[in-house]
Amino acid sequence: KLYNQVQEAKGNIRVFCRCRPLSKEEASAGHAMVVDFSAAKDGELGILTGGSTKKIFKFDRVYSPRDEQVDVFADASPLVTSVLDGYNVCIFAYGQTGTGKTFTMEGTQQNRGVNYRTLELLFKTAKERKETFTYSISVSALEVYNEQIRDLLDTSPTSKKLEIRQASEGFHHVPGLTEAKIENIKEVWDVLHIGSNARAVGSNNVNEHSSRSHCMLCISVKAKNLINGECTKSKLWLVDLAGSERLAKTEVQGERLKEAQNINRSLSALGDVISSLATKSGHIPYRNSKLTHLLQDSLGGDSKTLMFLQISPSEQDLGETLSSLNFASRVR
Ligand code: ADP
Ligand code: MG
Repeated sequence: KLYNQVQEAKGNIRVFCRCRPLSKEEASAGHAMVVDFSAAKDGELGILTGGSTKKIFKFDRVYSPRDEQVDVFADASPLVTSVLDGYNVCIFAYGQTGTGKTFTMEGTQQNRGVNYRTLELLFKTAKERKETFTYSISVSALEVYNEQIRDLLDTSPTSKKLEIRQASEGFHHVPGLTEAKIENIKEVWDVLHIGSNARAVGSNNVNEHSSRSHCMLCISVKAKNLINGECTKSKLWLVDLAGSERLAKTEVQGERLKEAQNINRSLSALGDVISSLATKSGHIPYRNSKLTHLLQDSLGGDSKTLMFLQISPSEQDLGETLSSLNFASRVR
């Protein structure tokens, strides 16, 4: 039986679905792949849900494990450069822990991800436009953990309590958050590194910690049109979300339970905001979480949003994969 759940993102929200490769461990344990990429070129993803049943999901793009960082970024790049034209943009990676959120956003030194490539492209494009525009680009890096904001570029030992404020012209900002002005591409990797190293501080297990917090980069752009003198301010958020997996209620207690509840709440809030935007309902509940409140200027209005929906190919993860696909279906 063939289901046809059309999940085309409308308006300014796009969804790219990316599947990681089967890991060596999964392959040697004989875990089957439940994902079918035969129509990936048409944006269709097939999920084998058991027996001969195949569910088809539709996206703006579908990437198989063979697609590389450069292919993925090529499709995201028009969105990225629109921040130089004054648009607010938000790109985030959603999915269960271990599906490649950090691989897509951060990447590795050999295989750089969206974050690095974004800054690289912004500097390249800014240079090409230098006869008509001057740009000033700065970066902030923060982490949201248990509904608290932590400045990842602040190296001082005492951490400030950071809150979100709305400036008179409507812009949301975080007073006191470090903004690193970046002059050229050589400085980028260093700044990104300070941020990712800071995530590890104060946690005994880096991977576990990072899967339970939202890691957010904000690129602020000030543009001046040299021909008409017009100035614009815009920002681009790059977000590596906390893992979307649900922990069994019996398994978590105390601090872990609080963490899990905060993650569930903020990811649900994100889903609520995006689905309210998609259905054009009047009230958009941005204030229900720090995550959506921070992203407020870059979700909705004439801003542009891209979600990387990260999934695992393994039969072992089928339940979580279907729940991620359902999350994406709320975006339509
Ligand atoms: P997450 O951040 O969602 O928890 P990771 O980005 O840490 O997941 O990815 C888990 C593992 O899978 C890492 O070892 C990563 O290098 C690998 N991986 C993820 N996506 C890909 C991909 N598209 N190609 C190759 N390896 C990948
Ligand atoms: Mg990660």
